[in-house]
Amino acid sequence: MTLHEKQNTTGAHWLEQSIIVLKGVGEKMLERFAKRSLFTLNDLLFHLPVRYQDKTRVVPISTLRVGDSALVSGELIQCKTHTARRAVLTCEINDGSGVISLRFFHFNKQQASALTRALEQGKWLKCFGDIKRGRQSLEITHPEYRIIDQHQPIQLDETLTPIYPTTEGLSQLALRNAIQQVLQRLKQQIQQQAKVDEATVSKEHALVSDYLPLTIRQELQLPSLIDALLYLHSPPPDCPVFELIEGNDPYRQSLVFEELLAHQLTMKRAYQNQMQHYSYPLITSNKTEKLQYSAQFLKQLPFKLTKAQLRVIAEIETDVSQSHPMQRLVQGDVGSGKTAVAAMSALLAIENGFQVALMAPTELLAEQHRNNFQQWLQPLGLNVAWLSGKCKAKERREALESIADGSAQMIIGTHALFQTEVNFHQLGLVIIDEQHRFGVHQRLALLQKGKKEKGINQEMEQSNKQNEYDYYPHQLIMTATPIPRTLAMTAYADLDCSVIDELPPGRTPVETVVLGEQRRDDILQRVHQACLNGRQAYWVCTLIEESEILQCQAAEKTYELLQNQFPDLSIGLVHGRMKADEKLAVMHSFKQGEILLLVATTVIEVGVDVPNASLMIIENAERLCLSQLHQLRGRVGRGSQSSACVLMYGSPLSRNGKARLMTLRATNDGFEVARKDLALRGPGEVMGTRQTGLAEMKIADIIRDQDLIPEINTLAQRLINDYPETVDPIINRWIGQKMEYQNV
Ligand code: ADP
Ligand code: MG
Repeated sequence: MTLHEKQNTTGAHWLEQSIIVLKGVGEKMLERFAKRSLFTLNDLLFHLPVRYQDKTRVVPISTLRVGDSALVSGELIQCKTHTARRAVLTCEINDGSGVISLRFFHFNKQQASALTRALEQGKWLKCFGDIKRGRQSLEITHPEYRIIDQHQPIQLDETLTPIYPTTEGLSQLALRNAIQQVLQRLKQQIQQQAKVDEATVSKEHALVSDYLPLTIRQELQLPSLIDALLYLHSPPPDCPVFELIEGNDPYRQSLVFEELLAHQLTMKRAYQNQMQHYSYPLITSNKTEKLQYSAQFLKQLPFKLTKAQLRVIAEIETDVSQSHPMQRLVQGDVGSGKTAVAAMSALLAIENGFQVALMAPTELLAEQHRNNFQQWLQPLGLNVAWLSGKCKAKERREALESIADGSAQMIIGTHALFQTEVNFHQLGLVIIDEQHRFGVHQRLALLQKGKKEKGINQEMEQSNKQNEYDYYPHQLIMTATPIPRTLAMTAYADLDCSVIDELPPGRTPVETVVLGEQRRDDILQRVHQACLNGRQAYWVCTLIEESEILQCQAAEKTYELLQNQFPDLSIGLVHGRMKADEKLAVMHSFKQGEILLLVATTVIEVGVDVPNASLMIIENAERLCLSQLHQLRGRVGRGSQSSACVLMYGSPLSRNGKARLMTLRATNDGFEVARKDLALRGPGEVMGTRQTGLAEMKIADIIRDQDLIPEINTLAQRLINDYPETVDPIINRWIGQKMEYQNV
């Protein structure tokens, strides 16, 4: 059956066929391909190489450099087998320009003798591998090699060899083979269709046609998609390999460009879809005689808001006065005072007769917000309801009631907030704290909760011509993981961004010290002394996040040890496996200054605010990522006295590990830390944006390619305005249906 017939019988585009149609791909293989999300021929076509090997030319040995991967060829001049601790076979080859050694380790007797037989002095060899520095000369360990006939021309590849991202059980060869078959089919199709008329061609190529309008492609000098794909899968011998992977190769750039564009379009469309919803405008009550909660709140606050806080509040006020939902992200370094901004926004909604939900990622943080908001709102005669996974039945029932009948104006909780039993009376604003801990879906689930099928605001109803409309709450999202502007443009293109770029006055920067574990006793003595002098300290026990139980055990043990060692100190313990009210009680005593030294796990990482604490010791700091350490460190340096943070590491620590910790010593600036962390861990991890697909990009890398983003941002808008028909196909090609929320 020809491809054409196959296509006609199935009705689908040939590229949408399962990879099972390929030679060498059976049921077993199918599973392995699936592990890399490779299902259809089209998936393979867009599965792009991560690097290349150049076997298109033989490199003279004298011109090799350490770090190259190269094909060399020459005469075997020496072969030796050593059998010291393990068998090593060394040989040397000479190509007339120089000599290089080859080394083979770890082989048994049989292999050794086979190898020795094959590699006989005087034979000619071609081999490929990574060039390393050896003892006397350059060397290659375990090269791919082949004995050749000195008198025949050496067989060379016609294109560079692509190396694809692969997975266990799926060999490079199998993958390459499958992809080559798809490319062959594509080329056949192109040839066949060159004979057919234009219209058919574009239909036949639906999946690989250029959706970007020709004018734009010409403007940006982007090659066609098919050309780019063919080129990247099998680049010609003379092409610069580095450019192909990292640099400005136009073919690569064109794909990167379109992929980033697809993401940008998805996010922008999500944003615009939201904009089409209705919201109740929240108007500042200055002009009316309404209760002025926010004014009263400001009066009772023991400090004045910073300029940055005021600016961000003004931005929020402008947003929420509109009749479509606010979608604003507030970025502010740890300690920049995001909670007060949240409170001001909440009060504005409450003044307008609406409820506000505030969602926090941990029990401890939610608890703390509850305390703050109760303290702030109760004097104004407002009710704060509280919902967490650990609420007792009665407490929970009462909370649910007050949420449903509207007697609670402010609702605070963990993700328990979007469980089905929760019915809001009239939700006007959703606030999400420490957004990086939540997925997009959780955020949207909460929005859906606040959705009202019919409006109640008379004015709004009259002014809207349609009868059918949904009301959505405004949303405010807060994060302490600041990221550079271009990244924000991509990662948060579905949000408007504000930055609190100023810390409250009078803070002294935290002094960070990096010390090895062998200094533990020393550190203990100093903590002891500091506490006796009235300072408060955190002692943080860390472990890899996955094992919360172990982490808690470590904290319990440390707690006992410290208690035995310093019976004269009041020491507390808080960790994730304690009951909610126990945790609360301990935090309360710490805040009151009754506990001086608090042993804790990373549960205190986000949001916890005890301004009098000025000393923090983090054990095994090397186990945490920079952002986490920065967050933790942000728990001190909140008051006016000078604070210190000791990053204690387990020895031995790698150079890289030490360099990481030194970054924190060098800066207190969250932007700087985030930049370093992004470089080390990649955007998906740092921003918790796995759900947005940023981490799963096929060829683009928003860190490496961020220079392109401003241009893409502008282009995305232009497409939406002037070429709306191109938006869906581009999104589908690169992202498909992965992002459910694009239709929200
Ligand atoms: P974050 O941005 O990390 O959430 P918080 O909202 O917890 O920061 O605020 C950190 C600390 O700074 C709190 O103790 C808070 O009361 C205090 N604070 C907030 N704004 C100001 C301000 N303008 N002046 C002085 N202190 C402030
Ligand atoms: Mg906070």
